[in-house]
Amino acid sequence: MGKRKVEEFLPDECHRRYCCVHCRAHLANHDELISKSFQGSQGKAYLFNKVVNISCGRAEERFLLTGLHAVADIFCSSCKTTLGWKYEHAFEASQKYKEGKFIIELAHMVKDNGWD
Ligand SMILES: [Zn+2]
Repeated sequence: MGKRKVEEFLPDECHRRYCCVHCRAHLANHDELISKSFQGSQGKAYLFNKVVNISCGRAEERFLLTGLHAVADIFCSSCKTTLGWKYEHAFEASQKYKEGKFIIELAHMVKDNGWD
């Protein structure tokens, strides 16, 4: 019986954020969004600089549209749903900006707090 991991909450003053669509755990601030032009297995996916309440699987090398990358699946640490992946390593110089960044599929996110 491990200790239950305490859920992190993003500060309220930072308005627009994304939550897990399944359990409403906070995932990322809109300010951390880098790009909306990614494609996941279930459609559109967003690239984030920083996310919270996720756990990482083992990194493995995969050939993606943009070349060879080492990526790890990421899960919601609250409800354990697979949300997307993390770029651990990019082998192409032009893709290095993705290293240490996170992809979350749009299908797993819901917008929360002050979007309009
Ligand atoms: Zn969740």
